[in-house]
Amino acid sequence: MRLPQSGTPPATPPAAEAGSLAHEYRVLQGRLASLTEEVARNDALLRKTQERELELLRATSLPQLFERLIIGLRTSYQLDGVHMMLQDPQHEIRHLLSGDALAEEELHGVRFVDALVTIAPQLAHLERPWLGPFHKADHELLVQGGARPGSLALIPLRRHEQLDGVLVFASVDSRRFSHDLATDFLAHLGVVAAICVENAVNRARLLRSGLTDFLTGFHNRRYLQARLREELARAQRARQSLACLMIDIDHFKRINDQHGHLAGDAVLREVAHRLDAEMRISDTGARFGGDEFAIVLSQATILDAETVATRVLEAVRGQPVLIGKSVAETVTLSIGVAAATPGESTRDYKVLAERLIAEADAALYRAKSAGRNRLATSPNLVS
Ligand code: GH3
Ligand code: MG
Repeated sequence: MRLPQSGTPPATPPAAEAGSLAHEYRVLQGRLASLTEEVARNDALLRKTQERELELLRATSLPQLFERLIIGLRTSYQLDGVHMMLQDPQHEIRHLLSGDALAEEELHGVRFVDALVTIAPQLAHLERPWLGPFHKADHELLVQGGARPGSLALIPLRRHEQLDGVLVFASVDSRRFSHDLATDFLAHLGVVAAICVENAVNRARLLRSGLTDFLTGFHNRRYLQARLREELARAQRARQSLACLMIDIDHFKRINDQHGHLAGDAVLREVAHRLDAEMRISDTGARFGGDEFAIVLSQATILDAETVATRVLEAVRGQPVLIGKSVAETVTLSIGVAAATPGESTRDYKVLAERLIAEADAALYRAKSAGRNRLATSPNLVS
């Protein structure tokens, strides 16, 4: 038998070498499987987060947004609690909400404070999400009600370099949120939530400021008149024309008389909804009063406006409007179409706006007189 010489490593017998390679292969395979699993998990989390964020962005009111943040996120991420604290030093958000006749449970999980740092001083430095174990002294005031959490994620809601609030995810599992977890998706969610809160607050402000019609959510007459002047100035700069549709529901009184005032309201909302669906993002719709609506079409000729008016007529009469659970009524409209091309010397946009509306109104009157359920057009105004 030959002994290995000192200084040279012992030669590995081929069988042992094959065994160790097989072992290494199994280890690598195991790692690959766990990495693939992790990628699939992250992928699912990303998709879920994107869906949630879209839901938040689609919320049209503060109560709806709060519900989607508190209940929606809790359900979606299977959390034991979601809490939100918003800084509201002037009590403005609280005042905006008080008009909405909010049920107490809808606000469950949302708290307003004059200054966040008085609740938890460490929030002053919360630039990115913080994940970690629950400490009674630090976190007690952030999570009121419910079971005592084991771990938390504190997500800052920041806009314009300023901390507006904090979203708190709570889990009874003390290992659910740990310092070493990735926080990118939570940071993104925080930014989206902060934008949504700001948008919903702005929308509520607008509703209060008297430029929006409460029943339909459309702009009101005052807003449209101001907007029309701006659009005329823009049309003049761009040397383009601008069109206006005046729209009135036919025999609307009958709906009120036969089905009641609330049914009438439902019809007004549905008509507004269908008009909205026919408008471009640059057009402006308004409830002009009663059952009368107006649409200002930017960069549009008389012909463009007639095309839109025809679509609007069809969109409303094409499908009966549901009133209550079982009754449906076919609703028709009369539409007056007018357009204006502001000349270079035009300066008095207010007068031109009034003339344009008067022309569209006159055309509407002709459509009514000619038997309703149609459009009529006034000649293009050239100032
Ligand atoms: P026409 O074809 O000539 O337009 O007939 P009409 O019955 O629609 O007549 P008109 O446009 O003058 O009637 C509008 C009615 O709308 C009168 C008013 O009682 C009702 N109305 C106005 N505002 C509201 C509202 O906010 N809700 C409800 N339900 N009805 C309203
Ligand atoms: Mg009417």
